[in-house]
Amino acid sequence: MPKTHAASARHTEPSVKLSTRGVARLQARHPWVYRSDITEEKDVPPGAVVRVLDPRGKFLGTALYSSSSQIAIRMISHGSVPDLPALVAERIRAAIAYRTNLVANTDAYRLVFSEADFLPGLIVDRYNDVISVQILTQAMDAAPVREAILQTLCDELQTAGIVERVDARIRDLEQLQPRPSGLLRGEKSSTVINMNGIRFHYDGLEGQKTGAFLDQRENYAAAAQHAHGEALDAFCYQGGFALHFALHPAAKCSSVTGVDSSRPALEMAEKNATLNAKPNATPNGRELEWIEANAFDLLRDYSAANRRYDTIVLDPSAFAKTKRDLEKALGGYKELNLRALKMLRPGGILVTCSCSFHVSATDFLKVVADAAQDAHKDLRVLENRGAARDHPMLLNVPETSYLKCLILSVSN
Ligand code: SAH
Repeated sequence: MPKTHAASARHTEPSVKLSTRGVARLQARHPWVYRSDITEEKDVPPGAVVRVLDPRGKFLGTALYSSSSQIAIRMISHGSVPDLPALVAERIRAAIAYRTNLVANTDAYRLVFSEADFLPGLIVDRYNDVISVQILTQAMDAAPVREAILQTLCDELQTAGIVERVDARIRDLEQLQPRPSGLLRGEKSSTVINMNGIRFHYDGLEGQKTGAFLDQRENYAAAAQHAHGEALDAFCYQGGFALHFALHPAAKCSSVTGVDSSRPALEMAEKNATLNAKPNATPNGRELEWIEANAFDLLRDYSAANRRYDTIVLDPSAFAKTKRDLEKALGGYKELNLRALKMLRPGGILVTCSCSFHVSATDFLKVVADAAQDAHKDLRVLENRGAARDHPMLLNVPETSYLKCLILSVSN
């Protein structure tokens, strides 16, 4: 975490004292300290900027305080922070600059990724000319901080609209007044984005996450390099992988089937397919269909009916939402991968993903290896991938890394 200049360290700010375990966490360069590791706090208001002290009162840095979260403080600087809105503005500019040479072939990507950009509690995504903001903590929700966020985004980017996506559950947990999602600046809340040469509709006030799964963007292009023959995208949402397989020049698919249990997601997938249709171009001969179904049932039925594919994508919603779900989640991933492996022809490609933070990269490899063993198949790892580079992983902060994406080739 960058230091900030301690020009005029004022000692009137509220402070918290940590236990030795709390200090050890900060020394391990993790920005969170849990409430159980706060040994002393006096009149700290919700969302305050607090001075952080060790058990002997030595100053360790500055944090953002939450009165309700189990994560009582999130470090924001190892120095003093006399002006939080100014620091937030500076960090947003740095996050934008960090991505300048990192992001290619897209006008949609994450601009600010919370802790990984030293802005805990703030997520900002760019979708072409529409910006989506998520504010997740008391400190980031304070009026002067919100104003600094919006003003900086307006100053730095050519935007036609800034929307706020509200997660009602998180506002409730943070004991913040409920507020609706909505347009905060400008006129525009929906647009068209272009990822890897493929176009997608984006509606800032609809859909899951902030509207698209931007973290998979580089994986779409990587998977397209290997996709061929008959392809099945089992949890396709608005068609991220499926449309790349149908339209990306690198993909060599003859047909693509997208499956999802959400009808609105499939309707959007179909609209996206139409958006990319070139009226005067020769058809590329790739068939594209969308099926509304429970993917678990469909895989079981197709497998029983001896259906075969050359490429299968598995990208289900997170199975393990909490640590307690881990065993069940691993069982779910194994079952799913086993079914897919049984349906893949020799030389086939399995693209298998997990976005459960509680399932580690090692756990996930093991689960897929177990499935391969049960399916009597040898798999080669073509690529072992994570989230796109605009979702940086901060070393020592495991929570910033959650997405696993394996691209495997079935040798027999
Ligand atoms: N690969 C997609 C994202 C998938 S998100 C992309 O890159 O855009 C997970 C999707 O799984 C969601 O669209 C959700 O609607 C769908 N889903 C959840 N449970 C399902 C089930 N049992 N069967 C089919 N789809 C399911």
